[in-house]
Amino acid sequence: MPVLVMKFGGTSVATLDRIRRAAKRVGVEVAKGYDVIVIVSAMSGETNKLVGFVNETSPLYDAREYDAIVSSGENVTAGLMALTLQEMDVPARSWQGWQVPVRTTDAHSAARIEEIPTDNITAKFGEGMKVAVVAGFQGISPQGRITTLGRGGSDTTAVAFAAAFGAERCDIYTDVDGVYTTDPRVEAKARKLDKISFEEMLELASLGAKVLQTRSVELAMRYKVKLRVLSSFEEQSDSAGTLVCDEEEIMESNVVAGVAFSRDEAKLTLMSVADRPGIAATIFTALSEAGVNVDMIVQNISEEGRTDMTWSCPVDQVIRAEKAMQKAHEDGVINYQELVADKGVAKVSVVGIGMRSHTGVAAKMFKVLSDEGINIKVITTSEIKISVLIDRKYMELAVQALHDAFELDKAA
Ligand code: ADP
Ligand code: ASP
Ligand code: MG
Repeated sequence: MPVLVMKFGGTSVATLDRIRRAAKRVGVEVAKGYDVIVIVSAMSGETNKLVGFVNETSPLYDAREYDAIVSSGENVTAGLMALTLQEMDVPARSWQGWQVPVRTTDAHSAARIEEIPTDNITAKFGEGMKVAVVAGFQGISPQGRITTLGRGGSDTTAVAFAAAFGAERCDIYTDVDGVYTTDPRVEAKARKLDKISFEEMLELASLGAKVLQTRSVELAMRYKVKLRVLSSFEEQSDSAGTLVCDEEEIMESNVVAGVAFSRDEAKLTLMSVADRPGIAATIFTALSEAGVNVDMIVQNISEEGRTDMTWSCPVDQVIRAEKAMQKAHEDGVINYQELVADKGVAKVSVVGIGMRSHTGVAAKMFKVLSDEGINIKVITTSEIKISVLIDRKYMELAVQALHDAFELDKAA
């Protein structure tokens, strides 16, 4: 039997009624003759609630216990989905990650999937089971502890299962009807794309468009998984939603494909650090060991053997960064005058493979921001994206102004 993977995100399983709705969609695919693997997220709001419990209990938590706690939301929806399907006379069984087992690295709270053995579930399909419901977002480490794949990780579970089982397609059901030129919640004029290239989707995701987890796009690209994003709230045809595919499959595209943003960023500057060979390595090793995900980095010009080092990271990691730097200072490893944290910044990026062959995108972006009176604090670029750090209060304005200026509401 051909295998289909269907993933339902938090809002699509937020109530028993919605689970029934999702189960009906699964039933439609079963009736077409598929063996279906359903990946479920926790009910919307559940994971945030669990993360809140962890932070309140232990701000510098042990990531192994964080995973034990925040993975639990998916266990509930997996069982409920299996029961709902059984009530509809569809033979179904649920699996938690460790039961499959979804083998991952031991990088707790950001684990990577290493292997998904298929024998267990395949044997059940052989016995007449039609739907395997798997709790997304979770796995098991080599040490036998529960791991999670990072926020939004159920997308990655879904694509990894599609790759492991050679699924015909991986359908990601969510609360929007596809991938848009930017988050439709921030820009009402955002336009749904029928197709988007893996590379553009990868950049948009990694720059904050949470419609797909970055790692899921990476896996889909590597294993050639046919990946589709569509709404669980609308009637579906086979051409619904957005197909994430190879660049070659897209005939026309705009120079800029989309605008992404990441709201909760922080900018930290280590003032007057002794400038010597190895200083960057020392600083960023200490930050990485403290679990800080550094994004942008800027080193200022040195004067009299001292320099300023600036970086950005998620705002909820500022305490970790501060502690790590304090400790390095006390240990005499890093000599600096002051650590200044700006917790009120956001990152806004424009993305498009057209930038490889078109010049002037950066200049236009900076002009648009300047016309709106928005100051740019840090800039980074790559072949197909330009990102800036700005004051958070201007984020929506910046996204809308850029969407307008690059005419993303109009198809190429
Ligand atoms: P799920 O719970 O189904 O995984 P998410 O909340 O993780 O859903 O992702 C869907 C959300 O992603 C949408 O509601 C939308 O607000 C947001 N989003 C951000 N950027 C985009 C984009 N470019 N296209 C579509 N949705 C986007
Ligand atoms: N429930 C997890 C989260 O909110 C995983 C997911 O929904 O993809 O991050
Ligand atoms: Mg998600």
